[in-house]
Amino acid sequence: GIDSLNVCALEVAASAGARVLPLAAGRDDSLFEHDGQITKREIRALTLSALAPRRGEHLWDIGAGSGSVAIEWMLTDPSLTATAIEAHPERAARLLRNTARFGVPSLRLVQGTAPAALQGLASPDAIFVGGGGSEPGVMDTACAALKAGGRLVANAVTLEMEAVLLALHARLGGSLTRLEIARAAPVGSMTAWRPAMPITQWVWVK
Ligand code: SAH
Repeated sequence: GIDSLNVCALEVAASAGARVLPLAAGRDDSLFEHDGQITKREIRALTLSALAPRRGEHLWDIGAGSGSVAIEWMLTDPSLTATAIEAHPERAARLLRNTARFGVPSLRLVQGTAPAALQGLASPDAIFVGGGGSEPGVMDTACAALKAGGRLVANAVTLEMEAVLLALHARLGGSLTRLEIARAAPVGSMTAWRPAMPITQWVWVK
């Protein structure tokens, strides 16, 4: 099926100089090993656009999961670097397998829980918060660590995280965007829209 075709394409890409892997962010979810908790490709494309990488910059991907956002950051340009912070040991191991699959072994993994795991890391030019943002101290630590001119992008699925982002928007400004995608899927012999959970995205330039 589609999955095995994509895996096949990735293997060909790895052995033939990445001629098959698309150059634009928002690559197919099935190219990544994941457990369902992955930033979906359309949302990931918008997220990378908002992270707006410039040559030589460093990203923190907090709650990195499969690593898809940090990996696509790394694939944008060889001058870019990233640190992925992931608390869950199985997801951290999966993330490392994905870095090998995509040929970005220099992506650094910190297996630990934010905000404690953020201590001592090189300050970032861009931060993505895909998990842990509603835990005490995570957003404040991230905002403080970000370099001047840097971008912070946070995606909320839960109401708890959305409340955190509404408060940050009221306090610090930036932009709030609601992202809703639906994919066409079979319903019996017909086709209907299957909506994904809506996402609230806060983008803040320091
Ligand atoms: N952007 C990811 C999906 C993230 S799902 C992807 O595309 O794959 C959210 C992740 O945040 C989960 O893997 C969860 O284990 C992690 N997480 C939640 N709270 C955290 C914290 N305080 N510190 C580090 N990771 C955390």
